[in-house]
Formats: sequence, structure tokens, C-alpha cells
Amino acid sequence: MDLNNASAGKGKKTVTLIPGDGVGPECINAARRIIDAAGVRLAWEEQQAGAGVFKQGIASGVPRETIESIQKTRVVLKGPLETPVGYGQKSANVTLRKLFETYANIRPVRELPGVVTPYSGRGIDLVVVRENVEDLYAGIEHMQTPGVAQCLKLISRKGCEKVIRLAFELARAEGRMRVHCASKSNIMKLTEGMLKRTFEEVAGEYPDLEASHIIIDNCAHQLVKKPEQFDIIVTTNMNGDIVSDLTSALVGGLGFAPSANIGSDVAIFEAVHGSAPKYAGKDVINPTAVILSAVMMLRYLGEFAAAALIENAVLVTLEEGKARTGDIVGYDRGTPTSAYTETIIANLGRLPQKWEVRDYKPLQMPQVPAAPDLVRAGSRRVIGADIFVESALSAEGLGNSLEQIVAESPLRLKMISNRGTKVYPAAGTFPDCVDHWRCRFVLRDASGELREEQLLGLLAQVSARHRWMHVEKLQEIDGEAGFTMAQGED
Ligand code: NAP
Repeated sequence: MDLNNASAGKGKKTVTLIPGDGVGPECINAARRIIDAAGVRLAWEEQQAGAGVFKQGIASGVPRETIESIQKTRVVLKGPLETPVGYGQKSANVTLRKLFETYANIRPVRELPGVVTPYSGRGIDLVVVRENVEDLYAGIEHMQTPGVAQCLKLISRKGCEKVIRLAFELARAEGRMRVHCASKSNIMKLTEGMLKRTFEEVAGEYPDLEASHIIIDNCAHQLVKKPEQFDIIVTTNMNGDIVSDLTSALVGGLGFAPSANIGSDVAIFEAVHGSAPKYAGKDVINPTAVILSAVMMLRYLGEFAAAALIENAVLVTLEEGKARTGDIVGYDRGTPTSAYTETIIANLGRLPQKWEVRDYKPLQMPQVPAAPDLVRAGSRRVIGADIFVESALSAEGLGNSLEQIVAESPLRLKMISNRGTKVYPAAGTFPDCVDHWRCRFVLRDASGELREEQLLGLLAQVSARHRWMHVEKLQEIDGEAGFTMAQGED
């Protein structure tokens, strides 16, 4: 791993420190105090992002100075950043992850001493590796009609390959034996299926590791039923977001769940949890998740001894149970954040009685070619187009109109679907239609290739009668359909 950290060569690594919003500053302060007390030679460069920055009128929530600091240090320890829910600015967290292409979000959870849960004693010790920049979180959304919204789910072979290779490499670095790929490829065969197919190809290069696929909904079910069967789970962005909150609850909740956002150039370490605004400034929050994120950061920086020193001090503190935060004993009785931090500092150098820190090796970052067109097809042709039309007509009415339009055309109307279900020609079913129709046109000559002028001509004819909002070419790639059928389409 080439950190290329500005100060790395001088023996003191520089880390960009973002305190964040809500409980962020309290948690970050705890982690920083512990790292400093452990004698790690780090220089901190404090920068801002999140709510305060939005208020200054910077729409991304990430100011230029913060970006420049990260470009230089390449390593970030950050507190949670507040994001308006359902309106307003985009998430500054997602912006940071995407700007620096931190393509993998690593979320480990492990049963901890003194943190009693319904799963205590079962030895949960697993990592969710979540793809971090693609999928629905690419955030490409459009209102297609006044009443129908769309979010594009973009999944690339390159993105899958990077995160899958990282998951296998992580297994080797942490001495783990099994990697599960969790996907919804039974329904989304092209997008989620891309993850599964890539996993199956890459797995062959790691014969020392057990590799299996599991459908994400069953994965959620198995995680609640028998979580100890999992070692590493690699999955797409949204699936990973959801199951990793679930896994953190298995070991005591968000207060104990650290994470790392890792890319080829930059790594950002942060708790899984958010800014928990109701606890902000009260000195009651559990800082363990941020402290353990800092431990992950130290390992990334090659500071294995310091990481073990701090992790052991956290384990001793939890095992002895003299300092216990409000999330596990109740906020009226919990140890204040500051006192909990002091206890961990006092425990530096001690070893827990029954718990062992895992033996970690440096993580080998995967090498995947940077070419944008990672996959090149041997052959491809366009055989038709889906034209998305807004119309208040019935399926029958719209179908008849479009049939008239293509009566003399080299294209024919194959079907119309409404929210993915074929409604024309009628199949005698009862879909509750909205004013958003996918109209599939294919060449009458099945061996032909649709020319640009034919498609543009069709669009001009359709737009003379109907409002269209989107076109998708139907491609055949290496002889395989590059599109799926509608529900009910033959
Ligand atoms: P949240 O801040 O994670 O808080 C949800 C609940 O989790 C809290 O009410 C609390 O549960 C528990 N919790 C969170 N952190 C804890 C800690 N350190 N110790 C103990 N318990 C903890 O989620 P949210 O309320 O949905 O989101 C608040 C804001 O944070 C939003 O603006 C959201 O966008 C943002 N967010 C940021 C990040 C990030 O920066 N990476 C991640 C997630 C959310 P109880 O109420 O049961 O005590």
C-alpha cells in the first residue's frame, strides 16, 4: 500500500481530522486523546465538513480546504456528518466517499466483553464489506412524470471486481476463512447479477478461501438466526448499508460499530453511526465506535502495535465493566464519555483476561486496471429501443396509438409495460397503472441492426403525439440480450 502521506517519510504521519456534527466532536476528541496517550506519532490537521459548512452556503458540505487536506494526507478520521432527510443538500459523507473513490466500506462487528446482547456467547466476529460508491447511492434521480420518480442503479464490472478482490484480500489479512457474496441477483439479474458473476470468477483466484453466494434477504434472515456462520460478507451499496446496521445491533448497537472507507488512494475512518443529535454536547455518548475506527486507521497506517495496545485497552475496559456508557446501562447511570475515555487511557498496556486481539497482516490493496472500458465486447448490435412515455391514456389506448405510428416502420411495438409489468398486449391481469409507460420497439427483421436515423425518426414520430422522457437502446452484447424482459413478457 502506497500511502504517499505528506509526512510519512519524516516518521510522523499526518491525518485529516474532521470532528463532524452532533456527538461527532465528543467521539473524535476521545479517539484523539487515546491515540495521543498511546504515544503514536501522528500529526492532526483539523478540517470541517457537514452541517456548519452547509450553513456557510457551501452546497457540497465539504469546503475546498478539507478537500486539499485530504489530497495531501490521504487518511481521514472523521465524526458523523448530519444530512437533511428527504430534502435539501446531498450527503457530505457520500460526497467525501465518492470524491476520493473510497470504493469499499469495511464494517467489522465482534462480540465484546461486558456488552450483553441476546447473542452473547455465540462468538459473532464478522465483517460486512459494502461497495461504497455505486448502486442507487450514485444518487442519479429524476422526476420522470410529476408523479413518478426514478433512481438509477448503476453497477459496474470494475466496481464489483475492486470490492470483491478487497473482500478476499481482507480475509487473508485477517486470517478469515469464508467469504459470502450477498446479492439480489434473483430479481436484478444484470445489476446485482454482475456482483454475483464477478464474485464467482474472482473466487477461483483464492482457492484457500471458502466462497459462497447467498441471496441478500436470506442473508438478513441468517444474520438474525445464526450470525456466527459468517466471516466476511461482500455486497452492494444499499444492501450493505442495511445489513451492516443490523450486524452492529447484534453486538450491542451503533455505539460499538467502527468502519473504514477504503480506496486505492484515500482511506476515511468513521463510526457507522450518525450524529445522534439528541445526545450532542451531553458527555453521555459511547465513543467506542469512533475509537475502534481509529484502531482500524492505525492498522492501515501500519501501526499494528499501537492498534493492538488501544484495542486491548478498550477490551479490558469493557471486560472489567467499571466504566460503562449509557447505551448499555441506561443514560441515567452511564459513565460520562470523558470518564470512559480516561478509563481506556488508564488501561493502555493491560491485556484482557479472556479476549484476544486478532492477528492482523497488512492489507494488500487489489490491482484492477484503471481503464474506463474494463470490459470490451467481441460483438454488439442495437436491436430496438424502450421509449418511456408519459400518458394519461389507457394501456389499450396508448398501444393503439403507437401501433398506428409504427405501421409503416422497420420497427414494431413489442409490448408496453407499466412499472415493469406487461400491460399491452393485454394479458387479462389487473395492474394499477400510473402515467409512466415503457414502450418496447424491436426491429421487424430479427437479424438486423437499428440505425441511429431510424431511432431518431421513431422518436420524432412518437413525440408528435406523446410526451416521452427517456430512451434506452436494446443492445445485444456478445450474442446475449443486454436488457431484461418485463414481468409477463414472452
Ligand atoms: P444516528 O445518529 O446513528 O442515531 C440513531 C440512534 O442510534 C441514536 O438515537 C442512538 O440510539 C444510537 N446511537 C448512535 N450513535 C450512538 C453512539 N455513539 N452511542 C450509543 N448509541 C448511539 O442515526 P440518525 O438519528 O438516523 O441520524 C442522525 C443524523 O446522522 C442524520 O443527519 C444522518 O443523515 C446522519 N448520519 C451520518 C452518518 C455518517 O456521518 N457516516 C451515518 C448515519 C447517519 P437510541 O436512541 O436508542 O439511544
